[in-house]
Amino acid sequence: MLLVRGGRVFRSIHGQLEEANILIEGERIMDVGPNVAAPADAQELDARGHVVIPGLINAHTHANNNLTKTMGDNWTLEDLRNHGPALYANRTAEEQYLSAAIGAVEMLKTGCTASYDQFAALPAPSAEGVEAVVRAYIDVGLRAVVAPAVADEVFYRAVPGLLDLLPPDLRATVERINAAPTEGLLRLTEEAIRRWDGAAGGRIRLAAAPVIPGECSDTFMQGCVRLVREFGVGLHTHLAETKVQAVSSLRRWGKTLVEHLYDQGLLGPHFVGGHGVWLTDDDIRRMADSGAMITHNPASNLKLGSGIAPIREMFDQGVTVGLGSDGSMSSDNQNMFEAMRFAALVGKVRFPHQPERWIGAQAAWEMATTRAARVLGMADDIGAIAPGRKADLVLLRANSVFLRPMNNFLNALVYAETGADVDTVLVGGRVVLEHGRVLTVNEDALFAQAQEAAEQTRARNAANWALAERLAPYVTRACQSAVATAYPVNRYAGPIRSQS
Ligand SMILES: [Zn+2]
Repeated sequence: MLLVRGGRVFRSIHGQLEEANILIEGERIMDVGPNVAAPADAQELDARGHVVIPGLINAHTHANNNLTKTMGDNWTLEDLRNHGPALYANRTAEEQYLSAAIGAVEMLKTGCTASYDQFAALPAPSAEGVEAVVRAYIDVGLRAVVAPAVADEVFYRAVPGLLDLLPPDLRATVERINAAPTEGLLRLTEEAIRRWDGAAGGRIRLAAAPVIPGECSDTFMQGCVRLVREFGVGLHTHLAETKVQAVSSLRRWGKTLVEHLYDQGLLGPHFVGGHGVWLTDDDIRRMADSGAMITHNPASNLKLGSGIAPIREMFDQGVTVGLGSDGSMSSDNQNMFEAMRFAALVGKVRFPHQPERWIGAQAAWEMATTRAARVLGMADDIGAIAPGRKADLVLLRANSVFLRPMNNFLNALVYAETGADVDTVLVGGRVVLEHGRVLTVNEDALFAQAQEAAEQTRARNAANWALAERLAPYVTRACQSAVATAYPVNRYAGPIRSQS
């Protein structure tokens, strides 16, 4: 047993700071309260001078992004997808391990103890790649839902009109790029689920992840539905993240993405859609009715210029929304304190002088804790400090320039804390970070290896980078033309410039 003694505890559910001890047996919290004591042989963790909060939960990220972070700016999502082969192709399993591990370390050091990770590799993840990412999470000590992101169609064909714009030599090059075969991807996902779902004492869960509906065939989607039914796993896909995706769904299927997925039988309580920026009111209602969930990634939506997601409307309809950083290629860090701040700030700009419709600190906090726990399929286990829950705890140094003077603690967590005060972190009752240092892996060695891997993969993919740069102006033109089309909702902050 372990007694976390003398801290001021923020339980999440009750919303007040209180002097309390936390008694942990194994991986779970036994009791919380001011007079909770431990048996004589119990270990003690001195939490005096600290506030104890539940570990934050990152409901949407991509392990493969961490090696390449900061390599792009002023990119749309489609610019980022265009650079996919320049960023994520030709990696060894060891490099995939390093990319996942360094992101997991960043999350721990900023108070995040669980993540829903849709990791990608090009042309497709391999069994060794899945193992590398799972092992990285196990080694660093986080809880994770690992979802190998797969697509059986090529991005360049998913952008309306792109191929027709390309000069013949470029078009021939792009048409030679083949997606991974459908059956192989389904087999990879199934084998990953069989091997890793429930690993490390349940700390690792697996999920199916058709990465973007516009890059997945119906056959493939049906295969994913079968995996969900057969293994009881989650299903995670990017959903109407950009207007280009929303418009191409109308052109290809004659319906919105949500309608398409509904018809494919994908929606349900296991379903998690990433972003949902371009959902219509009907889409949101349909999501709510089927129990489907959304991850909100405000920093990514802003950096990629995707638009402002209709989170208030989702709340109003009763859709569960969890908060995510998204991968480090679209928001450049994995800091959930920053994600909460962005969620609250951007949640105020759409409704001038209607503060009752704004997203405040309480909602931002819930999206990063209790609601994100639901998105990960761990609603009863994490997201709060309460008897019976897993002991995923973060000790913040109370005497800090960000938290002093302490007035309203919830507001301080969302608007003032940066993650710099994270002192000690427990996952499942095990101390994995102590006084700011990760105990589970050698951070210095990891940073050095990741630096080397980043430089090597960059050099290895130089030709892919050159190709992406040649394609970039055509991608821009095709996207500008697609987004000039009328659509039932507008999620941009500014008008769309019409094509000349
Ligand atoms: Zn994403």
